[in-house]
Amino acid sequence: GGGADPPRIRRLEESVVNRIAAGEVIQRPSSAVKELVENSLDAGASTVSVTVKDGGLKLIQVSDDGHGIRFEDLPILCERHTTSKLSAYEDLQTIKSMGFRGEALASMTYVGHVTVTTITEGQLHGYRVSYKDGVMENEPKPCAAVKGTQVMVENLFYNMVARRKTLQNSNDDYPKIVDFISRFAVHHINVSFSCRKHGASRADVHSASTSSRLDAIRNVYGASVVRDLVEIEVSDEDAGDAVFKMGGYISNANYVAKKITMILFINDRLVDCTALKRAIEFVYAATLPQASKPFIYMSINLPSEHVDVNIHPTKKEVSLLNQERIIEIIKNVIEEKLRNSNTTRIFQTQA
Ligand code: ADP
Ligand code: MG
Repeated sequence: GGGADPPRIRRLEESVVNRIAAGEVIQRPSSAVKELVENSLDAGASTVSVTVKDGGLKLIQVSDDGHGIRFEDLPILCERHTTSKLSAYEDLQTIKSMGFRGEALASMTYVGHVTVTTITEGQLHGYRVSYKDGVMENEPKPCAAVKGTQVMVENLFYNMVARRKTLQNSNDDYPKIVDFISRFAVHHINVSFSCRKHGASRADVHSASTSSRLDAIRNVYGASVVRDLVEIEVSDEDAGDAVFKMGGYISNANYVAKKITMILFINDRLVDCTALKRAIEFVYAATLPQASKPFIYMSINLPSEHVDVNIHPTKKEVSLLNQERIIEIIKNVIEEKLRNSNTTRIFQTQA
């Protein structure tokens, strides 16, 4: 047997635990932007503006016109596990907000410098306050403010050498940030989004509130995409209780792209579902003559007890009850749509 004494087990310091956990919630600048925008949407904002400097490493600023934050809540705003959205574990089952863990803002303060400016309805002035490692750095200072909240994150990953180096050496996160905002703009059509680089006069995404989904897609992805889209819709009320609804737009046989664009919202959460994405790519490859990758905007609604939102620290993936069945249904709808749109096209070219 081994002769050496086993190493001692020690309790990690809380600041170390928090920084490690924070690095998991906020993996890159774009994940911070996603969390901040989701907070703005949770706050009922109708306008969300994003400004980014140096791919988000120098500065991320998200301003909204939502309900703001109460003065008396500012001291605990950036502590870990403080939230206005969840109180009992059971609430997770019916939660409508995108946030629920009370970890995003806290995490940002462990890996960056966070400054919040906020004003609530009926106040004459707002407050500005900075946070570091979960705590307020100073008493909130009264300041001029318009409606809502502005969160500024500076010097992200200043205290995580390896992360900062990797991000500096790889491609700038700005395209990912633009991508996130574009997706939100397509789903939340009654919210006006903008996203720009710090100091730039032109926004790279600028969506006005609209009542038309196609207008929203045109606005963000261009008229040439919209020209080649067809609407899809399906609902399933099998077994009485399992209600499943899907609606969206998919590209037809005329659309040409090298890469799939898949904008997926499940119960209004922007998520990835690798299995569904693969299935859809497969249908396109099998149904259409040219090997074009599709453009997909899809919104799926399921009873909330069928969606487990708590399987990933970034909430990027969710797990669905009856996932195979749902994918099968969607595959069939898409295949049928494509076959129809394909014959129409051939018919038109021959005529
Ligand atoms: P979560 O969203 O999971 O609750 P966060 O750390 O993202 O956790 O935010 C903590 C709390 O701060 C939220 O529950 C909310 O009450 C408040 N908050 C954060 N951002 C905003 C915002 N833009 N407008 C209003 N309140 C906000
Ligand atoms: Mg949140």
